[in-house]
Amino acid sequence: MGLIKGEVDNLLVMGKSGAGKQPRIDVLVAEFGLEQLSTGNIFREYLGQFNAIGYEGDMGVFYDEGAGEFLPDEQLVEKLGDLITGKDKDAVLLGLKAKYFIESGKFVPDSITNALFESFFAKSGFKGMVLDGYPRTRDQSQFLVDLVASKGTKLDAIVLVDNEDEAIVARTIGRRICPNCQKVFHMEFKPPKDGKLCTECGTAVILRSDDSEEKIRSRLQEFQDKAVPALAFLKEKGVPVVKVPGNLPVFTDEAVRASVMDALEQL
Ligand SMILES: [Zn+2]
Repeated sequence: MGLIKGEVDNLLVMGKSGAGKQPRIDVLVAEFGLEQLSTGNIFREYLGQFNAIGYEGDMGVFYDEGAGEFLPDEQLVEKLGDLITGKDKDAVLLGLKAKYFIESGKFVPDSITNALFESFFAKSGFKGMVLDGYPRTRDQSQFLVDLVASKGTKLDAIVLVDNEDEAIVARTIGRRICPNCQKVFHMEFKPPKDGKLCTECGTAVILRSDDSEEKIRSRLQEFQDKAVPALAFLKEKGVPVVKVPGNLPVFTDEAVRASVMDALEQL
């Protein structure tokens, strides 16, 4: 049976960081005529809107530490004064709230992530998307399920990219990048020249700090603690889940496409 192009509202791609989500997202975008909606892009968009107004003061003035919440929106607008005049107020204030947490190094609460997501998702009428990086917690999943139900759209399926922790660690710590031209290498699968130099420009390649074993393991733990319950919740709410292998014997575009489409056929 499978999914029918044109009848799919939204798909979700989930999986551990480093599991290989992007090639599967590319397949879904191409096969179903959808767009990718990534949390990273949403945050960049709203932070950009806030940064564009040119506020250079202290971010702490917008937050009431005692009450543990932001000042009411009217007061935020008042504090920003002329800077926000004529701008998209909702977007700027969302950007302000996201920036406050990111800048203070605090965890961005689900309420803020949900608000950013809803605002962005609304632009497409709550459909036509491959969701990537959202929902990432059980509360976000609840919010999303309620949101699509209230807007009359749906979540058609979750594609879970399945990969063993140890395979992800091995693949990630072998990765090297050229700090000059950004070309990506892998010590085992696509080695740099003499094991250390970029084949394009000759610069010594580096291990990105995000690719350290400690960072990868902490992301894998976070997946276990938060995304696994999020996935269980969605499943319980009736969203079908199909598993696709993160590692393929032969990694070609066609092999990736076939593994994703075959899995969806089971629906
Ligand atoms: Zn280079």
